[in-house]
Amino acid sequence: MPHVRPRDTAGDPPAGVRTNWHDRSVAQTASELGTDVRTGLSDVEAADRLRRYGPNELQERAGRTLGQIIWEQVSSILIGILVIAGILAAALGRPYDTVAILAIVVLFVVLGVVQEYRAQKAIAALKQMSAPQVRVVREGRPWEISARDLVPGDLVLLETGSVVPADMRIIESVNLRAQEAALTGESEPVDKTVQSIPGTDTPLGDRTNLAYLGTSITFGRGSAIVTSTGMNTQLGRVAELIQDVKHEKTLLQRRLDGLAKILALVAVVIGTFVFLTGLATGEEIAVLLLTAVSLAVAIVPEGLPAVLTFTLALGAQRMLGRKALIRRLPAVETLGSVTVICSDKTGTLTQNRMTVTVLRAPTASADLTETLRKQGPGARLPLGSDAGWLGPLLAGGALCNDAILNIDGRLDAIGDPTEGAFVVAAARYGLDKPDLEQALPRVAEFPFDSSRKRMTTVHELASAGTEALVGFREIAGTAGYFALTKGAADTMVDRCGALFADGAVTSLNVGDRARLREEIESFTSKGMRVLAVAGKGLDALPSSKDEESVEDNLVFLGLVAMVDPPRAEARDAVATCRTAGIRPVMITGDHPLTARAIAADLGIASPAARVITGRDLDPMTPEELCGAVREVSVYARVSPEHKLRIVEALQMNGEIVAMTGDGVNDAPALKKANIGVAMGSGTDVAKEAADVVLLDDNFATIVAAVEEGRVVYDNVRRFVQFSISGNVAKVLVVAIPPLLGLPLLLAPIMILFSNLLTDGLLGLGMGVERPERDTMRRRPYAPTESIFSRGIGMHIAIIGPILGAAMILVGYLTFEAARRSDQLPEAQQLVPTMVFTTLAFVQLLRALSARSFRKPVWRTGFRGNPILMGMLVAALLLQLAVVYVPFLQGVFETIGLNVTFIGWAIVVAVGALVIMEIAKAISARIYPLGIAESSMVRSENA
Ligand code: ADP
Ligand code: MG
Repeated sequence: MPHVRPRDTAGDPPAGVRTNWHDRSVAQTASELGTDVRTGLSDVEAADRLRRYGPNELQERAGRTLGQIIWEQVSSILIGILVIAGILAAALGRPYDTVAILAIVVLFVVLGVVQEYRAQKAIAALKQMSAPQVRVVREGRPWEISARDLVPGDLVLLETGSVVPADMRIIESVNLRAQEAALTGESEPVDKTVQSIPGTDTPLGDRTNLAYLGTSITFGRGSAIVTSTGMNTQLGRVAELIQDVKHEKTLLQRRLDGLAKILALVAVVIGTFVFLTGLATGEEIAVLLLTAVSLAVAIVPEGLPAVLTFTLALGAQRMLGRKALIRRLPAVETLGSVTVICSDKTGTLTQNRMTVTVLRAPTASADLTETLRKQGPGARLPLGSDAGWLGPLLAGGALCNDAILNIDGRLDAIGDPTEGAFVVAAARYGLDKPDLEQALPRVAEFPFDSSRKRMTTVHELASAGTEALVGFREIAGTAGYFALTKGAADTMVDRCGALFADGAVTSLNVGDRARLREEIESFTSKGMRVLAVAGKGLDALPSSKDEESVEDNLVFLGLVAMVDPPRAEARDAVATCRTAGIRPVMITGDHPLTARAIAADLGIASPAARVITGRDLDPMTPEELCGAVREVSVYARVSPEHKLRIVEALQMNGEIVAMTGDGVNDAPALKKANIGVAMGSGTDVAKEAADVVLLDDNFATIVAAVEEGRVVYDNVRRFVQFSISGNVAKVLVVAIPPLLGLPLLLAPIMILFSNLLTDGLLGLGMGVERPERDTMRRRPYAPTESIFSRGIGMHIAIIGPILGAAMILVGYLTFEAARRSDQLPEAQQLVPTMVFTTLAFVQLLRALSARSFRKPVWRTGFRGNPILMGMLVAALLLQLAVVYVPFLQGVFETIGLNVTFIGWAIVVAVGALVIMEIAKAISARIYPLGIAESSMVRSENA
């Protein structure tokens, strides 16, 4: 990717358009952009600027142009065959056929184009919906706004995982690092700074005090002032870099393209065979050529591509309705094939409503469970005589913390739920975070990351402290700063060298450690999350490299245990997975016992199941891991990097894996998984890497999306079975009669009508069919599994010829009837009309039967799919119009059928329905669902 050259800033372009900001100081930047580094813009000013500069978006070029889409449709093999057929028909002196074929070619192309175009628009719209939210300060308060509404001068808060939403000048950086590969080609994250950098021709990559649209924050946090938005950004200037919505064909689409090619080949082979046999038996050349034309149009499933795109786009829409936002169309299909769902625990399987229930210091403890049950979540308690130990523990947890206490007096916090629980617990005892921060301002920090599983903040230690903070002074001695660390309790124990008990610091001996571990286990085995808080005095302000030494030899302040109840709907979703042949797997950074307790509660694993931790996993070889992942469904204390290994191991076992994630480091695993699932509340980076975004963070939503994916697959298979078996019948109806010396039974135009309109309309109706009851009670389809598997191919091979034979018989008997009643001159029109109409009736009833793969038609009936019913009526009316409207009679060479013939057509159609139902019953026996028991056994062993 080319480096981006900054434009010269000759003259004096208005603020928001100029690009050189790196040489300005923070104050200069703010004043030139007319903003305030603390309070940001006013609402009025922001609205005014939005009008002036326009929304912050790149004018994305449409994915493919209309012209490209049309060409793609026109250049398809099938269309080619049809055009040749049209020309042949013209040569044979059948202008109506030619016009009809070409008209239908045009209609076909238009239909395909409209569908494609709509699908593309829909995907673009979905992309838009996943546009990031940005935290800005306006009117002196933090807000969440859509990135679209950013204006130059806006004060933006950046944190790990944010996508940088515009070009901006950094004004605060706490270990802020950005990944800028997309813009500069530099693959390593760049440290972001605040100081101004002199020189006007500094390369973009060296302007470390600027952050650019299209890059992302991989570490730390900070704030910045927006300098330019939308097309005025560096990214906007280099239009070639703008990635368009990539067009990907889905596996089904590719497979059906392949199928079309095979069919075309078959058409040529059969055509040649009929032609040669006909020649040998002395048939007229004109008749043979016409037969070849008919064959060509009979075999091509004209409606298939349109039905497929329609069904896929509709599936994506339905998934959105169930709170799963699809970012790539192929995911709709792949979801239906998922065999393993790897899910985060916290927030996805649980409610992420963390509540502190137990506080425990070395020699004292408080259990809030009863109080909370009686007084509710708003219960307030006095510190009283416990201030000596509760004060430092609660204050420490609330200070080493990025959540914000809600200011309206309710006990509630904004931010990460684990953090919020600490802030709320402190406030419950009257220790409000804003007051604490005023007394002990934060001066440095080592942010939380999910590999270390802890975080540290450093505070200025004021000489005078509130009563609750006396402990800190005691621990710090003469030091001027106080470091506070909170993190996963079991790992924190190793980081502590002393403990604070009864107002004094004593060293932490082996017995203390063992006792702490025991306590931690007793909480975690009940499914609680346990964190420890510790602190120590520091003589000097640490630098960003001192993390290891600061987070060592700490003074232990206490344990904090919190509950996070499982989501009720997750339990049902896990049960659904079981019957659907999908294995749910829990992956969490939490403690193994916590993980196992929650997993057992949800039915993911048995209470004694084996749990693999990150530490167990590290030394395993890929082969060992492959073996392990077959058995183990709970992974605890893992880092995001482990997720990637787990995905790879599962995939090596042939599984189709859906994997959830929300952090920056989850992106590789999300990309690697067959379906990457990001949390709606997760980082932008995770969302960009994902195929699906869960708008409600809910495990049950993944399962719902899988169900919709299966429905899409089922509906496509339904149509393939229905239309291809019909086409086999049509091919036989065209190919056999000349060999028997019978006249042509179906004119080309009739076949086209049947393939495109009758089948097409019914196909659209099938595309909206709702899930069958057993959709989630059968094995998933392997993506490699043929579309003809589980009875579809069999159906086509058996039902196709039966229908074909029936139609030929109808043709023959009609011909005989005409002869007997001396109507031979009319037979030329009567016979094809009769076959054509009977075929239409047969297809109508077959469409009704196709509503279920297993259930008899009287159980599915006429209800549940009004669109299909509408299509049935429409197809019936069109068919009658073609037979009875005089003008159309001329075009289609039809003749009005009398009641007797219509009656016979109905009888044949009902007969076909009966055959379909028998075939269905037999197929249901040959291909049983047979999933429930076997998967249950497998899970029990886990
Ligand atoms: P999960 O997979 O459950 O979301 P995380 O990776 O978020 O797990 O967290 C792993 C562990 O890190 C938690 O069990 C907890 O002990 C600790 N932890 C989580 N959040 C924080 C935080 N904000 N500060 C300190 N420690 C934390
Ligand atoms: Mg987490």
